[in-house]
Amino acid sequence: MSGVTLQKVVKRFGEAQVIHGVDLTIEDGEFCVFVGPSGCGKSTLLRMVAGLEETSGGAIRIGSRDVTNADPSERGVAMVFQTYALYPHMTVAENMGFGLKMTGHPKAQIDAKVKEAARILKLDELLSRKPKALSGGQRQRVAIGRAIVRGPEVFLFDEPLSNLDAELRVEMRVEIARLHREIGATMIYVTHDQVEAMTLADKIVVLRKGRVEQVGKPLELYHDPDNRFVAGFIGSPA
Ligand code: ADP
Ligand code: MG
Repeated sequence: MSGVTLQKVVKRFGEAQVIHGVDLTIEDGEFCVFVGPSGCGKSTLLRMVAGLEETSGGAIRIGSRDVTNADPSERGVAMVFQTYALYPHMTVAENMGFGLKMTGHPKAQIDAKVKEAARILKLDELLSRKPKALSGGQRQRVAIGRAIVRGPEVFLFDEPLSNLDAELRVEMRVEIARLHREIGATMIYVTHDQVEAMTLADKIVVLRKGRVEQVGKPLELYHDPDNRFVAGFIGSPA
């Protein structure tokens, strides 16, 4: 079991409080999308789940484990960022396997995991290429592959497609939906793209100024937003 639970999670940066007691339950295997205006705290929440940012209050659980103060490497999460920062001198396969290599996994095991991730992401033909010989979409696929290879219980995506052009975004959105169906892991996905939110999410969390404004299934929010703010984010004309 690897759902994610946030209990009264608070974040302060110095004097500024940016997350104000967020309570949230994300079920095991659920695809949960965070939306909300720039600066509302989406990335900060993800980074706290990943352990890249300490919490100032409250608790975070993954499955039955309290990970509030756990090291990022002990949480069973992998994060995919908007900028994918591949190592230019390494091949696709080396980029994907690098994390496991650094943690001392045997080569045969790394190769098997890289091969499996490449199959899922249709990168089989590109494994020996360098990043500069890839398109933007292929590079972001490699970045996702890097996360898959680590075998996380929870995937965290922070606007992973916002650097891609519109056509590629649609293609990658389909890929990510397929990835979720195929591996069934819990996923938390930040986007400002309403179509991505509506089509990918089992559950959408609308955030506003560090608080949860509304949580619901895409069509619930679409047809029955609590207020105009939510309606503005989920696209039904208020
Ligand atoms: P979002 O991802 O929704 O755009 P963020 O989580 O990046 O929002 O930011 C939430 C708030 O926290 C913003 O007001 C931002 O300026 C502030 N913030 C984020 N990171 C830091 C930091 N390292 N130091 C100080 N303030 C920060
Ligand atoms: Mg952000």
